[in-house]
Amino acid sequence: MAKQFVVIGLGRFGGSVTRTLIELGHEVMAIDSNARRVQEFSSIVQHIYQADSTDEQVLKELGVRNCEHAIVAIGEDIQASILTSLILKDLGIKKVTAKAVNDYHSRVLEKIGVDHVVHPERDTGIRVAHQLNSNNLIDF
Ligand code: ATP
Repeated sequence: MAKQFVVIGLGRFGGSVTRTLIELGHEVMAIDSNARRVQEFSSIVQHIYQADSTDEQVLKELGVRNCEHAIVAIGEDIQASILTSLILKDLGIKKVTAKAVNDYHSRVLEKIGVDHVVHPERDTGIRVAHQLNSNNLIDF
């Protein structure tokens, strides 16, 4: 069943989440403050907006609160990631997933009520190590 997602930040992580959700048949709204990124994704995302996600009014006007699940894929600008996540929780979004770039970032996101914090590089490293471990076991 199609679910409504909003992805904020179309970098490598957010872009990949967006592409995959669309391929899986989900309805996705995307927001990025960078015009080039918005242009890049405009052919695959029907509801795409160039906006600053730290502006609560803008998120309200875009109807973000109607989405069931938000993915905050802003990394470098930790302040923007935290503020955006806080606004999304205050707007009443049921599920917020956010990307963290370090442990302090992750702890703050958890404290403000983010439901699922991901560390893409660390998580992938763990998965790859487990795969290497099981390949190694099969080899012997
Ligand atoms: P990745 O590793 O996934 O490529 P990153 O860690 O380098 O991402 P950033 O480049 O900081 O993360 O952010 C990802 C995207 O989020 C960028 O396309 C950027 O334009 C967008 N972004 C950053 N701040 C905001 C904001 N306040 N509102 C909307 N989009 C934002």
